[in-house]
Amino acid sequence: MQNNLSSETLPPLREVIREYDLRAKKSFGQNFLLDLNLTSKIARVAGDLTNSIVYEVGPGPGGLTRGLLSNGAHRVVAVEMDQRCLPALTDISNAYQSKLTVIHGDALKIDEPAAMQLEPGFKARIASNLPYNVGTLLFIKWLTLDEWLPWYSSLTLMFQKEVAERIVAKPNTKAYGRLSVLAQWRGNVRIAMNVPAAAFTPPPKVDSAIIHFEPSEPIDKSVNLKDLELVVEKAFGQRRKMLRASLKSLPVDTIELLNMSNIQETARAETLSVADFVRLAKHYQLLRTA
Ligand code: SAM
Repeated sequence: MQNNLSSETLPPLREVIREYDLRAKKSFGQNFLLDLNLTSKIARVAGDLTNSIVYEVGPGPGGLTRGLLSNGAHRVVAVEMDQRCLPALTDISNAYQSKLTVIHGDALKIDEPAAMQLEPGFKARIASNLPYNVGTLLFIKWLTLDEWLPWYSSLTLMFQKEVAERIVAKPNTKAYGRLSVLAQWRGNVRIAMNVPAAAFTPPPKVDSAIIHFEPSEPIDKSVNLKDLELVVEKAFGQRRKMLRASLKSLPVDTIELLNMSNIQETARAETLSVADFVRLAKHYQLLRTA
């Protein structure tokens, strides 16, 4: 560990990896970004960081963490499971006057607002080059919080490109599915940049992309998350079938449900807009409680 470093004298990431012997481990989903220009660019996608407390999952040797701090983040709270990375992260914390807090643990088990110790007047943002094995789980956790609008203002996240394309997909495309409806129901989402496999060390098999998500007010506040998740799951569970067949296992009269929702019995899941699914969920709720 080095105490005399400043933000200007932190060594290049390749040196950090050599010094602390941080060879990437597959079991931790480790593919590191070592180009600080790239990590700085990703940090800028997250927005104005000077008024933000940023939560980062999996800082690893700290490439994105350094990008977030050099772009003026008020504070960064990072959760890392791999103990080997902690000394390198302590160097960054020292260089940035303790603006970085590192928690050694599993991001799937963290209560983020408590860990972040949010302060009034600051926005909470999440920015992460997610470990692929838990990325979608965490994204769904952050999209399905009961309290909406949620405690965070934005998510800036790395996904495999194919997953990012599913998140932003529009109706009548192959990629459109449960993840698209959930994300686009809860906010505005876009692919902010593509990141080729070659940008990582070691390079993964597929390209990646950064998505930026900002939560928005619900289209219809009376719709319940569980009902929406259920109708979307049933509809896409058999995406080739017409809705009158794919929704049949719901404990209501399927034809009545579709008629009330003003959706054709012969339509298929991928032709429905997010607003259609919201109507379907609302009428499902009415019928099941009637
Ligand atoms: N942010 C770094 C970068 O961009 O170079 C590392 C990204 S790497 C894809 C994912 C990181 O997440 C690794 O450092 C890994 O150890 C960590 N990690 C994996 N599973 C985790 C979990 N459940 N909780 C916290 N960190 C985790």
